Amino acid sequence: MADRMSPAVAVVASLNVDHIVQAPRIPAPGETLMGFSASRELGGKGGNQAVAAARLGADVAVIGCVGQDEDGDEYLKALAAEGADVTHVRRSPLPTGRAAITVDEEGVNSIVVVAGANADIPAAAAEAAIGALPGLQVVAGQLEAAADATERAFAAARERGVLTVLNTAPAADVAGKLLPFSDVVVSNEIEFRQLTGQDPFDGNGLRRGGAELFAAGCRWVIVTLGAEGCAVLDPLSSVHVPAVAVRAVDTTAAGDSFVGALAARLAEIPAEPTTEDVVAACGFAAKVAAVVVTRHGAHPSLPTLAEVLGA
Ligand code: AMP
Repeated sequence: MADRMSPAVAVVASLNVDHIVQAPRIPAPGETLMGFSASRELGGKGGNQAVAAARLGADVAVIGCVGQDEDGDEYLKALAAEGADVTHVRRSPLPTGRAAITVDEEGVNSIVVVAGANADIPAAAAEAAIGALPGLQVVAGQLEAAADATERAFAAARERGVLTVLNTAPAADVAGKLLPFSDVVVSNEIEFRQLTGQDPFDGNGLRRGGAELFAAGCRWVIVTLGAEGCAVLDPLSSVHVPAVAVRAVDTTAAGDSFVGALAARLAEIPAEPTTEDVVAACGFAAKVAAVVVTRHGAHPSLPTLAEVLGA
């Protein structure tokens, strides 16, 4: 039974510090370019998802790892300030994860992530964390955090009937081994193509790719399609959920906010979710992501529930 004092959402999370430079274009191999500006922000897909869910009012626990460094101190403080439970964020001798991001004049980015401490989440600790959170309804994960830890956490969640949500980002082969433990799979267009070899904009491709993922063990497949919204599939049907029409200025964290919002909304459903519940949760997630794309940055762009409802 749900314990109201205990987090309902856990995110097995990558926690990165992003170093962002803006340049006229992405430099060619061997080239040095003069840029316009540089900034430093907290990010990482998992951290963004956890903060997104927390700002929307969910009680969130983070399962992850940061370094024994100032970046780690800062990230822990920031998560706690969002009201997230950081009891299960460990300190590693490896440095806090980092991303080097170059953004060109059109807003297109290229990113290199160095996992650091994110690769050091002990699988046994991730599993134990699930056991120590009696009120859990949903566990979310992505592919930037240690895959073994995500797998063990998802397996433990599944055993307890806690819903698991896998965001297959960034595209990586390791997704395959997590699919059997994932109830809901959220992929963007590129990840869906990589996972299944199918084109999600083609009705037949969408169905064929979905069937492959269902055969691997998941129950719902959500393919996000940027400004085109998303497709929600169960083994028998497919529903298109449109995006909210806005003028996008920066799509950073759109996908992460979508996953955080989805997890937050699914955690509020007291019984086993139905496909209608998943579709409704995607409608809510699309509203949240639409706010995010009208703002710059990752954490700074994530809205509160009041901002989403007022938007
Ligand atoms: P993506 O990761 O690009 O597929 O985006 C995830 C979700 O964010 C989409 O399913 C949309 O709900 C939302 N989104 C992304 N780009 C836009 C946009 N330009 N306008 C409105 N919503 C967007």
